[in-house]
Amino acid sequence: MKPHSPARQIDDVIHRIEELGYRAHPIYGVERTVIGCVGREDKSPLSQLESMPGVEAAIPILKPYKLASREFRPEPSVLDVAGVAVGGERLAIVAGPCSVESRAQTLEIAHAVREAGAQFLRGGAFKPRTSPYAFQGLGAEGLEILAEAREQTGLKLVTEVVGVEDLPAMVDVVDVFQIGARNCQNYPLLNAVGQTRKPVVLKRGMATLIREWLMAAEYILAHGNYNVILCERGIRTFETATRFTLDLNAVPVLKETTHLPVLVDPSHGTGQWQFVEPMARAAIAAGADGLMIEVHQDPPNAASDGAQSLKPEKFARLIAETRKIALAMGRQI
Ligand code: PEP
Ligand code: MN
Repeated sequence: MKPHSPARQIDDVIHRIEELGYRAHPIYGVERTVIGCVGREDKSPLSQLESMPGVEAAIPILKPYKLASREFRPEPSVLDVAGVAVGGERLAIVAGPCSVESRAQTLEIAHAVREAGAQFLRGGAFKPRTSPYAFQGLGAEGLEILAEAREQTGLKLVTEVVGVEDLPAMVDVVDVFQIGARNCQNYPLLNAVGQTRKPVVLKRGMATLIREWLMAAEYILAHGNYNVILCERGIRTFETATRFTLDLNAVPVLKETTHLPVLVDPSHGTGQWQFVEPMARAAIAAGADGLMIEVHQDPPNAASDGAQSLKPEKFARLIAETRKIALAMGRQI
């Protein structure tokens, strides 16, 4: 729309877009409003909008992901995630155990990571395990433990939703849904979280192209849930010295192609605790908006992912070391 177009003209254009069979996604800026139109492959009917009062131009977005693209939103998005700004100057730090194992375990880690500077507590109550015989998480009891940890620490909760059937029990408890690597392209699940207005951390699948990952994000955005954070967590390559290969290329590629905030998870990305801090530093140097880190007080006895979990004191050191990089990058922890 032209700068300072009256609300009446904006509403008329939205109405016309919907008559034509598209869904309108307006972004109301201080000076001007941009209206995204998605839902049909054929763009040609949209050129007629140019003759409507207040319309400056109808510009086709060439990328297959529309709402996720920088063409649609040229400035980086700073999301309000349960009261914490994600994507701005301050880095988002998500930390906690791989799995919620017990009340005592989770509360101890929650206090430690908050002390060290995290704003978000992670911890799986529903775990997507490679083996059906491995620990599958505490389920609803795990959610109660997480809620108590939030009450005690003020940390916001990030926890994985493994299936659509778990959403109703989770939606009133969690602050942020995590969609795991194994579910990155689970379209029914993406649609379901898209229909909520809860922020979503969408992890990259271990064999998912960046373009496919952004299309997965588009599923969530298309429902009008714009609170999507991407999380690079390593991909499969021929290399076996580490659990996955942390694709830090993804950070600058995403910064060029999307406005969505980008986190990096060097815990899953390396699979070994010694490599987590160096790759956390590298992630921030590459321009990531935050980190997701696994922390456990007794890694050898963790129910899952002990080998890549940092003890609380090592996590505190990671934050102190990463802060130096953050400051050099004009960011803060
Ligand atoms: C996790 O965060 O513990 C997890 C299962 O991660 P991913 O989906 O990236 O493997
Ligand atoms: Mn894990």
